[in-house]
Amino acid sequence: MTTVKLYHENAYIRDFAANITKVTPLPNNRWGITLDRTAFYPTSGGQSFDYGFLNDLPVIDVQEDGEEVVHIVEAQPNTSQVQGHIRWDRRFDHMQQHSGQHILSGAFFSEMKANTVSFHLGTESSQIDLDIETITPENLQAVEAAANQIVFSAQAIHTHWLNQDTIHHFPLRKPPAKDFSAIRLVEIADFDYSACCGTHVANTGEIGLIKIRSWERKSNGIRVDFVCGWRGLRDYQQKNTILQQVSGLLSLPISAICQGVEKQLLKTETLAKELVAVKQELHRNLATTLYQQGILIAQHKLIVHTLNNATPNEVNTLAKELITNSHVIALICGITADQSKVHLVFSSSPDVCLSMNQELTKILPLLEGKGGGNVQTAQGGGSKIDQLPTALALATDNITKQLSIL
Ligand SMILES: [Zn+2]
Repeated sequence: MTTVKLYHENAYIRDFAANITKVTPLPNNRWGITLDRTAFYPTSGGQSFDYGFLNDLPVIDVQEDGEEVVHIVEAQPNTSQVQGHIRWDRRFDHMQQHSGQHILSGAFFSEMKANTVSFHLGTESSQIDLDIETITPENLQAVEAAANQIVFSAQAIHTHWLNQDTIHHFPLRKPPAKDFSAIRLVEIADFDYSACCGTHVANTGEIGLIKIRSWERKSNGIRVDFVCGWRGLRDYQQKNTILQQVSGLLSLPISAICQGVEKQLLKTETLAKELVAVKQELHRNLATTLYQQGILIAQHKLIVHTLNNATPNEVNTLAKELITNSHVIALICGITADQSKVHLVFSSSPDVCLSMNQELTKILPLLEGKGGGNVQTAQGGGSKIDQLPTALALATDNITKQLSIL
């Protein structure tokens, strides 16, 4: 039995009475309730379903099944008649986004001859896919201006049904399939005529702001992301808050934020370069001190040192600096700033006859670590930082023994 679609007669109906025509048990303790008439919009034509209630039962999904509309609920109704109530904030939001999409697609066509290939009405923002290869900021501004001009002119949006005989009277933006029997037209006079079964506002002024937020290239064209109505206001509020915060952080008016951020980035880049130079100098000095303090074993110098808040790169640099001296064995460790890991570099001068790879891999299990390398340099990392002193003592002991018998 066909469900009478009240949302097609009047998209503003929020409350209605209806008779249950079918109750279908569904998996997971759910029931599909079919009514003789409904104001609940089922997911279709790119628009999402309405939430609401049938009596006191929350409607958690609404689906189309042929000519019927099925309301999904989580308990069986105990009456044959129900009072339906749809959640208006969600429905009105969908109407704003959907009518806004028609206008935006119409504006892309009128301003750029760009056709809408597909669209998606999302929960946060919506997207339109266009059959054009490129778009400029000037294009976007012109399209937004044209779309919002239609909003500000507060035009009526009419919907009516067309058949094969009457369809030729209207310049549809997209031609319909040839073999249709009836088509529902959404008409914004002298601007956009689209076949659509969705719910729309009665007047373009109700849409409020239409705002394109961003665009990206897709394989077959351009995708624009947009918001309308209350979403547009929320988006503006959120971005304004962010801008005010950044303005406060930089102590600059909003109009000067970009130059301020550019200046800060340049400063950071310069400071980072200076920091690298200072650290290199520091490591060279540290290497000199460590070399002097190294343990002398059978004409070799064993240097064991741990750096705090160090990156693997810094550990490597120090080890490299140390082995520019002859007969040096450097066991350098670096503990990360968050104290979660240690990076080890075991390195020796080319004139040392010991395998750094062997020495490192002997102690890595103590640190629950992994790593490897070659005779001259090996590196690895581990997470058992509390075992580092024991591991280094063992490595020192092993190396001392081997050097003593060389
Ligand atoms: Zn539509």
